[in-house]
Amino acid sequence: MATDPHEGSKFLESVHQFFDHAASFSRLDPGILAQIKACNSVYKISFPVEVDGKIEVFEGIRVQHSQHKLPSKGGIRFSMQVDEDEVKALATLMTFKCAVVDVPFGGAKGGVKINPRTSSVKTLEKVTRRYAAELIKKNLIGPATDVPAPDYGTGSREMAWIADTYQALKYGETNALGCVTGKPVGQGGIRGRADATGLGVYFGIREALADTDLLKDTGITGTTLQGKRIIVQGLGNVGYHSAAYCQQDGALIIGIAEREGGIYNPDGIDVAEAFKHRTETGSILNFANSRNIENSLDLLEMECDILIPAALENQINDQNAANIKAKIVAEGANGPVTREAEQVLLSNGIIVIPDLYLNAGGVTVSYFEWLKNLSNVRFGRMGKRAEEASYRKLVDAIELTSGKSITAQERALLTQGADEVDLVRSGLEDTMINAYHEIRNVMRQKNISDMRTAAFLLAIEKIGVSYESLGIFP
Ligand code: GLU
Repeated sequence: MATDPHEGSKFLESVHQFFDHAASFSRLDPGILAQIKACNSVYKISFPVEVDGKIEVFEGIRVQHSQHKLPSKGGIRFSMQVDEDEVKALATLMTFKCAVVDVPFGGAKGGVKINPRTSSVKTLEKVTRRYAAELIKKNLIGPATDVPAPDYGTGSREMAWIADTYQALKYGETNALGCVTGKPVGQGGIRGRADATGLGVYFGIREALADTDLLKDTGITGTTLQGKRIIVQGLGNVGYHSAAYCQQDGALIIGIAEREGGIYNPDGIDVAEAFKHRTETGSILNFANSRNIENSLDLLEMECDILIPAALENQINDQNAANIKAKIVAEGANGPVTREAEQVLLSNGIIVIPDLYLNAGGVTVSYFEWLKNLSNVRFGRMGKRAEEASYRKLVDAIELTSGKSITAQERALLTQGADEVDLVRSGLEDTMINAYHEIRNVMRQKNISDMRTAAFLLAIEKIGVSYESLGIFP
């Protein structure tokens, strides 16, 4: 995987090129377009943490790309590769991602240069809390300003530490739990958040496969996942759940690429078993009935119907784009395909389902979690009528974003013990379906042949409406 220190600048350059190309189809004022493109603020910090009796200095960053809607929203990444341009690129993508799925947030992202795999849990906790404290004391994060979430190298454990640090430093503040999403369910999280990105990836792929017009020149046969051969890069949160949901719907996961190498089996790999094997042995290699692929990047170039890069940015680049044989590249990760590589893929007739749409399931369900936190409700501990009222609020919000109307029967079910996870999943499903068709409509109306340009344009136009109606201060 990418280790080149210049990868961050390459990533940001690609995102800017994607933006510029899409913006060329927009009639918005060039000044508004420049404001939509720019990163509003970058906050860089160095802070000391004691690790095994010695003081180590860590570098952290939080970028708020846009505040046309508040709070701004985006994950926190723990990786040795974190640099300013990478985080700026990721924050920029968050702005457009939220707009594509009508989640009313601005875009942000954060990161700490740390290797989560070689750091002890104690060190991770100290670093997470100190990083959070640095942001909290400057009022840079909070339920109404900027709300972090998990990203590469972080998860619900880190989010619980952030929420606890926030509550310690802002004792008694209203809605404090809404300062971060992706929390454990017992700490103000929402059921269905952990697998939301992967489930959204599955819904997006499912829509694309049913779209015979989109796929007419790809040679793909059949309009469902049944029997489709999939290769996935990355068995982390996004890769694992994307692959597992596709497999559950009949797809064959024929290859899994991880940082230590990959495995291949044309008859299909059981994703849950492969995950278990990796957890137990520390490596994906040597999995039963599968062939080891020593260089995991080779797997990206193997024959398949759908390639899901679900690890890091810049994985499909000018070095390997011409060798990609997949018919669909479904971007589970943020920025896995560079602008140059996308040109090659498109000219080879490959369909790219872009990140800003396809992996938006995570932030969609983060929005539901945040709404739940703002309503200050702990479901299941209240009188029936109060509980009904609070569920009604959540249902209304989900109806609003997804455009789905919840039936009277579903509402009734919700108030009897309220099946939160079903509500969340159906809200997510409708959100992904609606956004898919909005993107396809833009393609038709503007005669745009690729999904990324249309998704960016759709987002740019929506954000432009916000700026135009808000005006510019002062
Ligand atoms: N880190 C995730 C993303 O890249 C989730 C962001 C969020 O939920 O705020 O979309």
